[in-house]
Amino acid sequence: MPEKAKKAASKAVKTESKNSGKANPKKASNNESKKKLVSKTTAAEMMAGLCKLYPDADCELTFKNDFELLTAVIMSAQTTDVQVNKVTPELFRRFPTPKALAEANPDDVKEIIKATGYYNNKAKSIQSCAKDLVERFGGKVPKTLEDLTTLPGVGRKTANVVLGVVHKIPGWTVDTHVQRLSKRLGLSKNEDPYKIELDLQKLFPEQDWTKYSITLIWHGRRLCYARNPDCNACPLNNICPSSMAP
Ligand code: SF4
Repeated sequence: MPEKAKKAASKAVKTESKNSGKANPKKASNNESKKKLVSKTTAAEMMAGLCKLYPDADCELTFKNDFELLTAVIMSAQTTDVQVNKVTPELFRRFPTPKALAEANPDDVKEIIKATGYYNNKAKSIQSCAKDLVERFGGKVPKTLEDLTTLPGVGRKTANVVLGVVHKIPGWTVDTHVQRLSKRLGLSKNEDPYKIELDLQKLFPEQDWTKYSITLIWHGRRLCYARNPDCNACPLNNICPSSMAP
């Protein structure tokens, strides 16, 4: 990715959540690395509180099958699920299978997905992925983390979304929200997504990994914003080590 695009991408991540809280963002981020890790009991209490707050938490991308979800997740980088959901109906109407997408004219794909941003790279990624699905997996989306992560544009995060949401194979989706919240809640001190994933695996029962990932993502999108988390409205403000509620 060109330097200019990298800066823009990084800015997009940093400003992805608009909010109305009044807390000081510097105070929130500077103190997070000094926070102690919470116990397993407190971690369970936190997740119980969040599950109560978001009982309907679910993947916010719309899809009809694993191929559609895989493609949608790849396109969700540096944009919102809402934005991706605006382009996928037309994309999958025109190119409903890996073969159709792999063989599509790249300019047509770019034109359809333009609104998601970085459409040149994204078009390349989703078409390379579709091509690999056809050539190496008989046009089907593989059902293991090992195979999925060999596909272009597919890392553990994307693979775990597909496995967890479509195939009910539990996994942690360590995206920007899960990364931030893990630190704020004292669930992990690590920066590296894979190390965070391992910390979370140790803290929570395996059958809950997918549901808890989605719940943390919802909390990151709705209250625990990157800047100015709305601690006053958060039900965890009495147990969260980063709470700035009075
Ligand atoms: S109290 Fe809630 S909103 Fe505030 S930092 Fe903790 S989890 Fe986030």
